This record gives sequence, structure tokens and C-alpha cells, in this order.
Amino acid sequence: MRCTFVRSSVLTVLVAFVLATEPSAQPLSAQPTSSLTGGSRANIDVLHYEFRIDFPSRSTLDTILFAATTTAYRTSAVAALSLDLVASMHVDSAYVNGMRSTFSRPGDSVKVALPTGSMDTIRVAIFYRGVPTDGLIVRRDTTGTWTAFGDNFPDRARQWLATVDHPSDKALVDWIVRAPASHRVIANGELVEESLEPGVTTAPIVRTHWRTIRPIYTAVMVIGVAPFAVLELGDTACGLAQRAGCVRQSVWTSPGRRAVVPGNFARAGDIVTLFSSLVGPFPYEKLAHVASSTRYGGMENAGAIFYAEDLFKPGSPTEALIAHETAHQWFGDAVTERAWPHVWLSEGFATYFAALWTEHAHGESAFRQDLSNMRAKVLKSPITTVKPVIDEELRDVARVLNTNVYEKAGFTLHMLRREIGDSAFFRGIRTYYAAHRHSNALTADLQRAFEKTAGRSLEWFFAQWLRRPGMADLNATWYWDSARNRVVVSMEQGNQFAPYKLSLAVDVVDRRGVTKRVRLAVPATLTSAMTIPLTAAPRSLVFDADVSLLGTIRSSRSQLPLVK
Ligand SMILES: [Zn+2]
Repeated sequence: MRCTFVRSSVLTVLVAFVLATEPSAQPLSAQPTSSLTGGSRANIDVLHYEFRIDFPSRSTLDTILFAATTTAYRTSAVAALSLDLVASMHVDSAYVNGMRSTFSRPGDSVKVALPTGSMDTIRVAIFYRGVPTDGLIVRRDTTGTWTAFGDNFPDRARQWLATVDHPSDKALVDWIVRAPASHRVIANGELVEESLEPGVTTAPIVRTHWRTIRPIYTAVMVIGVAPFAVLELGDTACGLAQRAGCVRQSVWTSPGRRAVVPGNFARAGDIVTLFSSLVGPFPYEKLAHVASSTRYGGMENAGAIFYAEDLFKPGSPTEALIAHETAHQWFGDAVTERAWPHVWLSEGFATYFAALWTEHAHGESAFRQDLSNMRAKVLKSPITTVKPVIDEELRDVARVLNTNVYEKAGFTLHMLRREIGDSAFFRGIRTYYAAHRHSNALTADLQRAFEKTAGRSLEWFFAQWLRRPGMADLNATWYWDSARNRVVVSMEQGNQFAPYKLSLAVDVVDRRGVTKRVRLAVPATLTSAMTIPLTAAPRSLVFDADVSLLGTIRSSRSQLPLVK
């Protein structure tokens, strides 16, 4: 009896839902309505998704109803639109421009036949249902209530969303979610509507509509549905939002954990202020910090960062984690790598910007400690000796994240800053960001931006640090040449990896204990000799005191000139 009741109820809702959302046959514009970012489907650029999701009002989530409407621009003739969607989701019907269409289900995709045409905008609606086993994480919280959180990275949107599931095709999104009134819905974008559906009294339903005004990629398109407690952090970073005004921030957590908030979120406004001034205005409509079911400690969903729920306790999430995920709003979200081997453009930047927050908020010595920790991870991680940061041989996207793309890439950005100086470095970042925001980029785009601001080729730098495995291994020996008033440094580089061209900081400590920093231009040869002119013999030399060398250095003083 109960089973029968559930089934008929699902069917009733399904019919009502389909009728309510069947797309109209109105004529569509022949021109795209957002920037062209397409690429992973030949001749197709998705402009917009509308996801209608219907959660049942029952205590058990046995079926969730989905209607995904994709608006895409067809740059030339394409006979069918292929969207990613796992085979376990049951597709009921498909429509093109409001007309019923045929579809097939090859592998984890749904292929919808299109009418003939080219250089036109098409609207493809797919109606499907199921309870996703991944991508949308459905769980019960400590009170036994169901919760649902999107967790798409890197290519798990297809587990619940019919999409072109690749970072190269960004699109605008409308989320229209019906859920029991006991729950609230957080998503990307700005809140358009949150209202009780009229006429439903026994199990009230709230319809929530979020809409983005900036195109985003599928891994960061999410909703969270739970009985949230929401703490408003208010307007932050005023004057630094891409839209006029401030960045509205809030924290969404379970009611039981509300007491531990705001904790480190007290600095959330300062973090956005710092990054906006370094890079460019905050790119999205608002910024929510959400306790969720993500498998990652934090996940940088656009405008709605999801954190693992168990991190919500006193003193946690850490400022470093909040800064990392917030930096992703610019790097990874607003500027997205066009291809997965370039994911360091997302993770390396987020890692380094978290360190820049440390430098800004806690000073030089804390910053050096961050750099030292990053370097230690690179030195002990086996992958850094066998794979380059840009791994063009990457085949399994599930393995895209590793020490190379986080710490080695982050440290590489620091070395670049030391190489070209603060002014050229931050101008280069702003140039790159402004050219590619709300679109995609590859490493070559970043290199070009830095070469422009530095006024010289950086091909050697990008090649040695990002396109081959390894790190520097130096052995420096020096002596005082009293006849010519200079220090002579003899440098040997280890031969496990090809030698590196380096700008190496040396702190020269004189007899009074006063330190002067010089930089040695170390050539990319196995052995080399360099000189430092001085007026008197130094007491000591300290190599790489500013923690700017990715690798190891041993140094010793020789009393006699070295014989080679
Ligand atoms: Zn990250």
C-alpha cells in the first residue's frame, strides 16, 4: 500500500512538473547571448542552462525529478546535441525548440536529434529522474533529515546534470528548485525568488530560484539543499565588486553548528578586499560559505564555496582554507583552464594567493613559513620528480590534482615574482585576469601577459619549472678574494635533472653583523662561478634566506681559492 502510494504520488508530481516546465515553441534569436567559450563539442557553444529540480516532500528521497534545458549556439550544421548524463538516470523525454524530439542513450550521454540548421540558437530540454549516486550527494544529517549537495569536480556534474561537462564550455545558469519548506536552497548566482507554493498546506513546498549573471563551468555549478541556519556577514569589500556596490557574504550551516560561526569568517571581507585589489573586482553576485557534503576540504563553487561539514568547529575552517577557496573565485572560476593539464592555473594560484593573504595579514616571517611548507611538500612528493606541472599525458581526469599543481605551481608563481619584481608580477596577473575573466585560458596566455609586463621572454622560466619534472639541487662553495675585494662563489648543480637558470638571493653579513641582500644570476650549467664585489671580507653568506629557491642548496666556505 505504501509503495503504491509513493508511486502514484511520484507520477502525479511528474506530470504536473512536466506540464509546468514544457518549453515554449517561441522563435529563438539567431545570435548568441553570451561570449563564445565553447570547444569540447564541435560547433556547439552552450550559452545557458536552466535546471528545474523537484525534491519530494516525503522524508525519503526515492526519486528526484529533473528538467535540464540547454540553450546553445550552433556555429555550423550539427545533427544531434550530445550531453553528458550517466546511464543510471532515467530519461523520459526530450524537446528541441519546444517540439518533441527523439533521443538515444549511448554510454553516459544523451543524444538529442536536432532539426537541420546552422548559425542558429537551439533550445534542448531533457526530462529525467532518479536519485544520483554521485555528483549530487544525498545524505541524512545527524537529526535524520535528508540533505543534498552538489559536488561536481572534476567531471561529476554528469552524475546528475545533463550538460557539456567540460571546463571549456561556460554558460549562464538558472536553478529553479522545489523542496520541502523545512529546507532551504543555496546555489550559484543571485536569489531571484524564494516563495511558498500556493495551495499546498499539508506538506508545504518552497520554490527557490537562483540565477547567475556570469557564465561558469560545470564543475562549479551546484546547489545545496538542507535545513540551513544562515548567518549574514553583511556587505564586504565595498567598491570592489564587479557590479557596483559591495560583496554580500553569508555562512550557511546546519542549525546545530551555528554557534561556532563566524570564527574565521570574521576575516572573509578582508580576504575579498585584498584579492580584489591585487587582481580585479570580485567576479560574482555574492559569496556564500556553505557547510556541505563535499569530498574535498573545500570546493570553490562559483559564488558559493562548499566546505566539508566537519570542518565547521571552533577555529575552523582555517583562514588559509577560506583564502584558498576565495582566491579560486578569480582563478579557476572566473578564469578557467581550457584543458585539464593546465589546472595549475587554478590550484597554483589559489595556493599562492592563500600565502599572499598570510603575508598581508600575518607578516613576512609567517609568509616565509608558508613558502617553506610548500617547498617541503614538493621535495618529499614522488610525483614532482617524474611528472611536470603541465602534464600533457594526463588521461585520467580523476588524477588531475597533486602536489605539482598545488605546491610546485604555487611556489613557481613566487619564484616568478622574485624573477620579474612585484610591479611586473602583479601587473601581469591583472592583465591576464582582465583578458580572460568569464572565459578560459591556457598557460601560454599567462606567459604572454607576464612577458608583456616584464618586457622580456620568459620561455626559459616556464619551460624549466612547468614543462619538465624536478627541482634544483645546488652546492655552493665560496671564498674571500682579498687581492680583488670580492667573494667568489663556485656553484655545482646536481645531475638528476637538467640544470636550472636561477636568480638566487644571497645575504652577505659583514663583520658588524649588518646584512645586505644581493642576487646571483646562476646560469643553467652544471658548474659555474660568480663574484660579489665587497669593500671588506664578510663574516658569512646565507643562501636563499627569502625562501625563493625550489630545491635544496648546500653551502660552505673555503679558505683557499678553489682549483678546478
Ligand atoms: Zn583549490
